Amino acid sequence: MGPSALEEKVVAAVPTQLHIGGRWVDAEGGATFDVLDPATGDVLCAVADATPSDGMKALDAAVAAQSSFAAVPPQRRADILTRAFELLHERIDDLALLMTLEMGKPLADSRGEIAYAAEFLRHFAGEATRISGGYQTAPAGGARFLIARQPVGPSLLITPWNFPMAMGTRKIGPAIAAGCTSVIKPAHQTPLSMLALVEILHEAGVPDGVVNIVPTTAPGPVMEPLIRSGKARKLSFTGSTQVGRILLEQCAEKVLRTSMELGGNAPLIVFEDADLDEAVAGAMAAKMRNMGEACTAANRIYVHESLIDEFGRRMAERMAGLVVGHGTEDGVDVGPLIDDAAQDKVSELVADAVSRGARVLTGGERPDGAGFFYPPTVLTGVGADARMAHGEIFGPVAPLTPFASEDEVVAAANATEYGLVSYVFTNDLRRALRVAETLESGMVGLNQGVVSNPAAPFGGVKESGLGREGGSVGIDEFLETKYVGIALAH
Ligand code: NAD
Repeated sequence: MGPSALEEKVVAAVPTQLHIGGRWVDAEGGATFDVLDPATGDVLCAVADATPSDGMKALDAAVAAQSSFAAVPPQRRADILTRAFELLHERIDDLALLMTLEMGKPLADSRGEIAYAAEFLRHFAGEATRISGGYQTAPAGGARFLIARQPVGPSLLITPWNFPMAMGTRKIGPAIAAGCTSVIKPAHQTPLSMLALVEILHEAGVPDGVVNIVPTTAPGPVMEPLIRSGKARKLSFTGSTQVGRILLEQCAEKVLRTSMELGGNAPLIVFEDADLDEAVAGAMAAKMRNMGEACTAANRIYVHESLIDEFGRRMAERMAGLVVGHGTEDGVDVGPLIDDAAQDKVSELVADAVSRGARVLTGGERPDGAGFFYPPTVLTGVGADARMAHGEIFGPVAPLTPFASEDEVVAAANATEYGLVSYVFTNDLRRALRVAETLESGMVGLNQGVVSNPAAPFGGVKESGLGREGGSVGIDEFLETKYVGIALAH
């Protein structure tokens, strides 16, 4: 069955060119690339494929707009963000359909992401008017310190495909609030949601050159010269640790400010004193939000040995009951993975775990046919030697591992180079706080399976990243602190 008239209309409405200096333009040479529907493998549309020279033009536009944008009153910057927030809500139905078509997640999840994405704009609209400084007396007296916050300057924003809009507003919101101009490079798998967002920002009153976007299939060749040019002052990246490491090296040359939201390998621990219903519901949320394609996804589920059989039975029942299909269809809970490489990777990780002794409680069979689907899967008895215990599964697969003691499970949870988020289910207050303090992660979900909230500081430790997005600190990533020493005495 082909796309519906509504689907065609929604895709046709999205600008498919680059946005540079306030104008929609073709890529140099007119090159384009195809955006696919992962549920069918069909082409949705073609988008301009930026070249390195287009990237540099976008950065030059951001540089040219920087000083005038820094002078725009904070209230005006807040008003722009608020208007964009409203427009996202006014158009949520069309935007959700667009997101589902390019990314695969069910419509309800896409609506959830757009509301979440919009919330970053509202949150940072508030922060724009609260940028403050200080005035203090030097400890020895006499001199005074004036402390002011200023925008960092032109910023490069690179985002992944798994949350095609929210990972953008989490950066664009604070950048605009702080008075920074930017060049956005969305993932080539899902450029449409970000192109639609840029159009909305423009409509909301973002001045020309303040937000530029350059989708491309050559992210390295396009972005590296911008990073090394010395014209940009900041790189904010969300994506894999592997790519983050490369970008950090590139940023070293001109000593760019960096924010790095990288990969995760979240442990979820269910202690023997947990509320089992709550723990199963929490594990379902932590595993299945975004179909497992989230940096925050529970990647290793440790269940106390006294509960694991019952936990596994209930989780398998819940997972087996989920409806897999095209995200645009009513009643679908789980859409396709992003591409065939993701489908291959998940299948291989499951086969590896099974070859090392894990048992399949449900799922585990890669389906035939069009689209990049994988069934919700629960494995039990997954050992520490399984490949999936060491890296992101990024799919709807829940690996269960039994444990006997608190010390043992905390050591296992921390035995990873990642440190984004951990989840703990227990009704023992002392244990909850003790374990939350000991877990090596930037965030901990205590008796809850979702931690993402625009008003909270999101980010990781160890190789999961640098800096925080959201919360009251999210804007700090786009501000420099300037200190003026003042002599008062004649
Ligand atoms: P990815 O690292 O492959 O790509 C992320 C972005 O970087 C894309 O826009 C891509 O085009 C770009 N990119 C790739 N190579 C580049 C290069 N050499 N130079 C410049 N840009 C380059 O990641 P992905 O597969 O798109 O996204 C999934 C990853 O993102 C997972 O590891 C996930 O955990 C992570 N993620 C982290 C967070 C977080 O907040 N910590 C949130 C969402 C996703």
